[in-house]
Amino acid sequence: MTDPSQQIAELLRSQNSFLVLTHYRPDGDAVGSQLALVLILKGLGKTVEAWNDDSVPAKFRFLPQSELITRPPAEPKDFDVVIAIDTSTWQRVGTAAERIRSKKHFINIDHHVSNEKFGEINWIVPEAPASGQIAFDLLKRGRFKLTREIATCLFAAISTDTGSFSYGSTTAESLRVAAELVDTGINVGEICRRIYESYPYARLMLLQKALAQMQLADQKRIGYTWVTVEMFEESGAKREDTEGLIDYARSIEGVLVAVLFEEMSEPGKFRISLRSKHPKVDVNSIARRFGGGGHHAAAGARIAGEPHEIERNVLAAISEALAAAGL
Ligand code: 5GP
Ligand code: MN
Repeated sequence: MTDPSQQIAELLRSQNSFLVLTHYRPDGDAVGSQLALVLILKGLGKTVEAWNDDSVPAKFRFLPQSELITRPPAEPKDFDVVIAIDTSTWQRVGTAAERIRSKKHFINIDHHVSNEKFGEINWIVPEAPASGQIAFDLLKRGRFKLTREIATCLFAAISTDTGSFSYGSTTAESLRVAAELVDTGINVGEICRRIYESYPYARLMLLQKALAQMQLADQKRIGYTWVTVEMFEESGAKREDTEGLIDYARSIEGVLVAVLFEEMSEPGKFRISLRSKHPKVDVNSIARRFGGGGHHAAAGARIAGEPHEIERNVLAAISEALAAAGL
């Protein structure tokens, strides 16, 4: 079988019009990887569009050319190539799917172990801690030019998905890639200040409320909290401000699995985020039981129902997983 990376690199060179997509509610890896691909294609003189139903979170708007990411248009469009990056299921591109009239080639680049391989060409690397690291690999294999702008996007992507190079998923390769990105002259201090030290005050007010609700379950091995519509209203925080809240539940000594329950604006709809701190506990399989997915150590799902019941079911599923892992 041909190596998909070579096939993808060839399409980037030979085709003319491209659409680059990622998942809705994009995180740093999604936006960073999407923009890196856009910038590589622009560098090759191609026509490129990048869409998302949700706007780029405020803390990632400093990324070069982030304004190129627009909402999907009202009328469907034709493209030579559609690329989805960091997107485990095609459904997660949102309304973009309906706005593509035709495509000659369909590329899916991702690192989610749960990826549904919905593309024509699927390049899935579950060992990569960030899709940004796969995008870097593509750049190298295709011998595309690594500009400082691309390096900024890729650094943001890899830094956010590795928890600033702290999660167990961080590999020697991640650090070598980071070193090469830094060699282009990017300003690491400035990038990290923009991403990690530029939160709106309202986000801390939401955090305050989430911390006040924090609880432990199953012999203090599960740490969890809630964010409700009321808490968003009272704090003035936005949906994007929930990113990272789960890290506080995860940071508790003895906690093996952290959960963030989020009440969505649609009545009766909830979102869960899961994090595992133990190699034997796979939160992707727990999320899949609720119709979601993700990675071994970080996953999520959207669930409809009644909050107390959802909480009970999710906590029970985690306890089962802990027991099944012999913990
Ligand atoms: P987060 O908890 O940060 O929202 O997501 C953690 C990981 O789980 C991400 O890689 C994300 O793509 C995945 N994930 C979160 N929510 C869902 C979901 O509803 N469905 C699927 N398939 N994956 C999800
Ligand atoms: Mn990712």
